[in-house]
Amino acid sequence: MENSFVIQELVKQIDRLGKEVIWPAAIEADEEEKFDRKLFSQLGEIGLLGMVGAEEYGGSNLNYSDYVSVLERLAYYSLPYAVTASVSIMVQKMIEDAGSEAQKKQYLEKLISGEMIGSFALSESHSGSDAAALKTTAKKVSGGFELQGSKMWITSGGLSGVYVVMARTGEKEISAFLVPDGAPGFTLGKKEKKMGWKLSPTRELIFQNCFVSETQLLGKVGEGFKLALSALNKGRVTIGAVAVGLSQMALDLSLAFSKERKQFNTLLNQFQGIQFMLADMATETYAARALVMQAAQALGNPQSSLSQKNASALTALCSMAKLKATDVGMQVTTDAVQIHGGVGYTSEYHVERLMRDAKALQIVEGTNQIQRMVIARNL
Ligand SMILES: Cc1cc2nc3c(=O)[nH]c(=O)nc-3n(C[C@H](O)[C@H](O)[C@H](O)COP(=O)(O)OP(=O)(O)OC[C@H]3O[C@@H](n4cnc5c(N)ncnc54)[C@H](O)[C@@H]3O)c2cc1C
Repeated sequence: MENSFVIQELVKQIDRLGKEVIWPAAIEADEEEKFDRKLFSQLGEIGLLGMVGAEEYGGSNLNYSDYVSVLERLAYYSLPYAVTASVSIMVQKMIEDAGSEAQKKQYLEKLISGEMIGSFALSESHSGSDAAALKTTAKKVSGGFELQGSKMWITSGGLSGVYVVMARTGEKEISAFLVPDGAPGFTLGKKEKKMGWKLSPTRELIFQNCFVSETQLLGKVGEGFKLALSALNKGRVTIGAVAVGLSQMALDLSLAFSKERKQFNTLLNQFQGIQFMLADMATETYAARALVMQAAQALGNPQSSLSQKNASALTALCSMAKLKATDVGMQVTTDAVQIHGGVGYTSEYHVERLMRDAKALQIVEGTNQIQRMVIARNL
């Protein structure tokens, strides 16, 4: 089947789920912090979770840029579901790229079908931006490793069936482990009370003498940080795509509102002050999408001149996409609240939720200050 037909069909299915299921439940799901597990499985059934997955495990092996454009559409209806999907797909790709055959058999089909969700666990209370300073240890014991320590702010904590946990196997050596839900010595810490992303649980993970067998080491000993950074490169582009979807919804809601609301006996969209805001929102959203797409295309094409010539230029491009799109997301959603006036500050009109959701995008997967550091380093 032609890729473009597959993508069109996927977008149609997401529009259907978005209009019939996600959007009508969005306010209540936010207020009650309710994650719809069945809906997430449906994202697997329609093929979204397997878009870039290997065909032998049920994936469609499509281009990274196709995946990013479909993810943007999901984020249009719900940022938290799009983020859950993007992190789980990031874990899926880490296993596909670095995992053993047994690990692929154990996890990939389940992650692709949506039967299982994956989490990425790097951050700790003392090491967020300075992720390499992590303190969780993995001591070699007979038949495997014993983890000690804790991870903070882990997306989908408590929902996931598998956690990729970065832990220190030596003073200067970080390794990655696949820790299944329910592993002995692994417990969930507190669930964070957050400003946004309310239906996506963010939790602490605690490891006390947590045994993981040798077969759960992902890649080689000492390769963990490299694997994490490479996954984050891609993750940053998907976070950019999520921000673009969010901005597009904020713009569409603002446009519709400006065509209905009258002040001074005039529709809001007849005021030049409002027209200029809408024009800027549209232009910035468009520019962010173009940058995200360029990064996605470069990532998905190892033959591209950028990928081949200079890996750090590609890393910087991914950082630019994340930085630009998430700063635009914050600006556009803030303007959307402004255009709505008083009702924009109430939950009924959705835009206040979009603004709260936008903020975390400037923090996760490397704050936007860290993205600027990465970009500057490459100049
Ligand atoms: C909703 C949510 C979900 C998350 N999900 C995950 C997850 O699934 N997995 C995971 O591992 N982590 C996750 N995180 C953690 C996230 O990646 C970290 O919060 C982030 O990397 C920042 O780390 P920090 O909070 O420790 O802030 P800090 O590193 O303490 O930074 C505080 C401030 O200082 C700035 N700063 C730090 N260093 C510098 C510098 N050198 N120059 C200039 N400014 C600097 C930062 O940009 C920031 O503004 C999540 C966080 C949130 C809020």
